[in-house]
Amino acid sequence: MNFYPGDEENRYRDRMRELADTYGWPEMKALREEVEGLHIERYSMTFQRQLAEHGLIGLTWPKPYGQAARIDQQFLMAEELECQGFPGYGLTTNQRGGGMLLRSGSAEQIAEHLPHVVDASWTYCQGLSEPGAGSDLLALKTRAVRDGDHYVVNGAKLWTSSAHVSTWCSLLVRTDPEQIRHRGLSLLLVDLQSPGVTIQPVWVMGGWRVNAVFYDDVRVPAANLVGEEHQGWSVITGNLDEERAMSFGGTETRLLCARLIHRLSEKADELSESDLQTLGRFIMDLEADRLLYLRVGLSAARGEDTSGTGPMSKVHGSELAQRFIEWAAELLGHQALYPDSEDVLAADLEQQLRVATVLTVIGGTSEVQRNIIANRHLNLPRSN
Ligand SMILES: Cc1cc2nc3c(=O)[nH]c(=O)nc-3n(C[C@H](O)[C@H](O)[C@H](O)COP(=O)(O)OP(=O)(O)OC[C@H]3O[C@@H](n4cnc5c(N)ncnc54)[C@H](O)[C@@H]3O)c2cc1C
Repeated sequence: MNFYPGDEENRYRDRMRELADTYGWPEMKALREEVEGLHIERYSMTFQRQLAEHGLIGLTWPKPYGQAARIDQQFLMAEELECQGFPGYGLTTNQRGGGMLLRSGSAEQIAEHLPHVVDASWTYCQGLSEPGAGSDLLALKTRAVRDGDHYVVNGAKLWTSSAHVSTWCSLLVRTDPEQIRHRGLSLLLVDLQSPGVTIQPVWVMGGWRVNAVFYDDVRVPAANLVGEEHQGWSVITGNLDEERAMSFGGTETRLLCARLIHRLSEKADELSESDLQTLGRFIMDLEADRLLYLRVGLSAARGEDTSGTGPMSKVHGSELAQRFIEWAAELLGHQALYPDSEDVLAADLEQQLRVATVLTVIGGTSEVQRNIIANRHLNLPRSN
């Protein structure tokens, strides 16, 4: 297998580079300030709109919505985006909303939503977890009761990332209380401006905001049901598989690693042999992580089941990111203890030390991912 991309593979990466070239220091600074103002890691509306103008949203989607690009082309574009330090989370979460509709939505839903995803005028978040239902998502209690041509939704969701800047929420609700576990759940697209929706901030250690979202008698048109009623679990498992196949920290960590190498090259003779060996091992592990992530992406594009391999990529990338950031911060010493350090790399490492703690929690904890690998990939029996 040849891992070195040619012109065709690089087509959209080159477009991303063209967009990146329009950014100077003042524009990058403005983006950084926007991200800090929205309080969502790697999320900028301005950048979303620029991606839209350059035709870089929904690359793998069929025409007329997307560009019918291959997954490796999309991978290389997204990698370029992250490696150049642009905020890529908005792209991920909004494309996940559109991707869900392409897999499970009606023709009307696809025609209504996808143009707004690719022009970045609508944004999407995912409301699954609840106060008593995180790892055990199937314990969720939010209810939707059919009332004529609407559903009436009541309940509370916790940890909903980017809800405060989203137009729509993909909301997993129980529509049949007689059924248990994965039976009787449905997926509704909820307009977050609807009466009865209250969004409250929840601050996490990295300084970013997630949300508690309360739904009180929220009326949702029945036309916003995605997939069949009571079959919401099969809709959302596609999203979860996609989420677990994402890069969780690997790409950003490679960028941090490149910055660290640049810094260390100025004083390479001060480094101990043991530090150099550790750095060498991290470089190898980061490259292995990149290839694992690419393998899962290519496998998904071929229509193969990635429910077992996606979690491997997630566990590997997130735990590697945590190990690297901890080591790098220690190497830079006390400067990496201060959020306001004048040394920008040290300040970023200090923040990443806090941010990276959640990498092994979001999208399902490492323990839960390991259970999935055991069940789905190794076919081991479930524990009781
Ligand atoms: C920053 C952040 C952003 C998030 N964004 C979203 C979002 O946008 N949308 C959304 O719906 N959710 C989101 N989440 C929620 C996330 O998916 C859950 O936090 C995660 O699934 C864990 O659930 P929990 O927090 O309820 O922990 P719990 O499920 O209570 O787990 C507590 C501990 O028990 C362990 N544990 C639980 N069950 C098992 C088991 N069977 N075997 C072994 N160990 C187990 C866990 O590994 C963990 O260590 C986000 C979370 C965070 C922190």
